[in-house]
Amino acid sequence: MSLYSGPVLPDRCKITNRATDYRTERTMQDFLKQDIQFLPGVGPAKGDLLRKEVNIHTFEDLIYYFPFRYVDKSKFYKVREIHPDLPYIQIRGTIKKYASVGGGRRKRLVAAFGDDTGTLELIWFKGAKWIPENFPPGKEVVVFGKPTVYNRKLNLVHPEMEDPAKIKKVSSSLQAVYSTTEKMKDNYLNSKAISKLQSNLIGILPSKFSETLPSWLLQQLKLATLDRALKQIHFPDSVSDHKQAELRLKFEELFYIQLNILQKRTIRKTEYKGNKFPHVGEHLNSFYKEKLPFELTGAQKKVLREIRADLGSGKQMNRLLQGDVGSGKTLVALMSMLIALDNDFQACLMAPTEILASQHFRSITSFLEGLDVSVELLTGSTKKPDRERIHAGLLDGSLKILVGTHALLEDVVQFKRLGLVIIDEQHRFGVAQRAKLWQKSSVMPHVLVMTATPIPRTLSMTLYGDLDISVIDELPPGRKPIITKHFFDNQRLRVFGFMKEEIRKGRQIYIVYPLIRESETMDYKDLEDGLESISRAFPPPEYQVSVVHGKMKAEEKAISMKHFVEGRTHIMVATTVIEVGVDVPNATTMVVESAERFGLSQLHQLRGRVGRGADQSYCILMSGYKLSEDGRKRLETMVSTNDGFEIAEVDLKLRGPGDLEGTQQSGVPFNLKIAHLGKDQQILILARDVAERILDEDPKLELEKHFIFAKNIRKGSVNKVNWGDIS
Ligand code: ADP
Ligand code: MG
Repeated sequence: MSLYSGPVLPDRCKITNRATDYRTERTMQDFLKQDIQFLPGVGPAKGDLLRKEVNIHTFEDLIYYFPFRYVDKSKFYKVREIHPDLPYIQIRGTIKKYASVGGGRRKRLVAAFGDDTGTLELIWFKGAKWIPENFPPGKEVVVFGKPTVYNRKLNLVHPEMEDPAKIKKVSSSLQAVYSTTEKMKDNYLNSKAISKLQSNLIGILPSKFSETLPSWLLQQLKLATLDRALKQIHFPDSVSDHKQAELRLKFEELFYIQLNILQKRTIRKTEYKGNKFPHVGEHLNSFYKEKLPFELTGAQKKVLREIRADLGSGKQMNRLLQGDVGSGKTLVALMSMLIALDNDFQACLMAPTEILASQHFRSITSFLEGLDVSVELLTGSTKKPDRERIHAGLLDGSLKILVGTHALLEDVVQFKRLGLVIIDEQHRFGVAQRAKLWQKSSVMPHVLVMTATPIPRTLSMTLYGDLDISVIDELPPGRKPIITKHFFDNQRLRVFGFMKEEIRKGRQIYIVYPLIRESETMDYKDLEDGLESISRAFPPPEYQVSVVHGKMKAEEKAISMKHFVEGRTHIMVATTVIEVGVDVPNATTMVVESAERFGLSQLHQLRGRVGRGADQSYCILMSGYKLSEDGRKRLETMVSTNDGFEIAEVDLKLRGPGDLEGTQQSGVPFNLKIAHLGKDQQILILARDVAERILDEDPKLELEKHFIFAKNIRKGSVNKVNWGDIS
């Protein structure tokens, strides 16, 4: 309490219950807002580090700096029992000797450490001067760390060291571990030090943490109070106390996100007007009856019904259309645009690259051939006269459909009556860019966002929670599922044999490498090496090989690509730069080298390059023998399914949403402090349900029992979310 420097509170005012609550709440708030450097044990230097390294500015930031892991220090392992699959463990033994090894950047301190069952190495790369002084050879010591293999030897890198005499019998077997940076560790701010600061802080709290959820909800869901949860998350009394604390904090985090998104969505739906498209007329009908070359899939029909209902409702549509590569999204986009035209509105379709935009333009014009609908393509390379003609056509309304790239966003591009905006591959566009499109008409146009990056339900609920979601979960008939196989590097000859067989049948093959130049530390096949062995195994003139990689000039790439597209080369050796839009139906085999290095969604996108023609296609994943658990799981998943959504779910579980392709670029607009969108789906669904129920009853959160929600949403302190970024 001594440190409390908040305002002096009047103590002679008439105190009602409410006022007391308010007063302690204020006291606590002011207390938590204090600069971190005033916490006992911190001071200016460490305060600076905490601010700069981990963004902890206040007492409150510290308490919300949660452990990322807990360790079990109740058991000591024997050296003989150690293997690299173990998590963090502790071993009691002695150091035999220290040695300084290597020079320059690789300079390190190595200690031989052992017990009566064997020895292993302890390694420090820096900041280890004090270790030999404190833990001289021959003296018993407890080391603590994660076993790894380096130079084929078992070791612990940067282990924590402890004097066995100082190890207290811990009441709880779980000890919190906090992430810290190298800089912090160098300045004695390691995990243990953070834990000590947490304990200092909890020791001087002037009162309980004020509750952020109403007691009726805590009772209903049997959740721990915030006060208890925040204390137990740092110092759990038991495994079950820890679980309780974690559940409470995760629920709260996800609940407020859901409540906020859903409230915005309710407001949008009730208060924003949209252009009403009541008619299904000539354009759509004549296209459907005369032009459509095939039957729509059930999924396409379902999605079109959903879109039509939106467009006819008088409310502005905001819909996300998800569908795997090749599921027929373009056709759905086109038919939606025709509905806009039938109601005397214009429509536009924006794609992230010129290749994709021209592809859309080509397929739309060929679908519409013979119908009297004007369509134009506008990209960065559209010539000035064409550009001017297009601008004029948009303004006088004679141009009905515009397809293009970012060029559509320029201010000079103005429509007479823009009614529908379709955005393909939305994750490549920033939210601000999308917002620019909406501004091109006085009433917000309807918006359909299309993505081929499957997003698991839980993630889309959170990322695009205020969009309605349609899914095309069915491919057009007649597609042969791609056969995926995993081979180890030493089976390469078999794979080469298979490739020759395919080439003999007249097919073409992609080989994709993860890197251009071999990386220093990791032993991965690199494109140049690979190219050498390919040219040996597939010698000219019988075999012709194209190469495309990121370091080539654009023209070189284009020529190389062209040769492959025209069938003049048999094999395309490439890094991942092969464009999303590349479409060579005669290419039936995709070989991915060092496949374990790729993320799941990346592998799935690569595989999507084949399987575009009528012939059976194959995806061959090559890897070394040594696979991490995650690596193995990724390859197994690819072999076992072609379903992008299933793959996305596994990906989310393995990697967490921050790493998911797509979301990285769009930027998940919030940092989850404790919940994990992949692993906490149950809690997320619960949070969503509860939020929905509350808003159904009280959309504006005006009932007294909901005041606390309204207050916390306004304060925005529960999770620091930039709501402006969620559109
Ligand atoms: P996406 O954009 O979802 O990757 P596309 O719209 O490019 O997929 O469609 C892939 C291919 O399938 C195109 O050649 C398209 O003409 C064709 N297609 C679309 N819908 C159907 C359908 N219902 N039946 C048969 N072929 C279809
Ligand atoms: Mg497409």
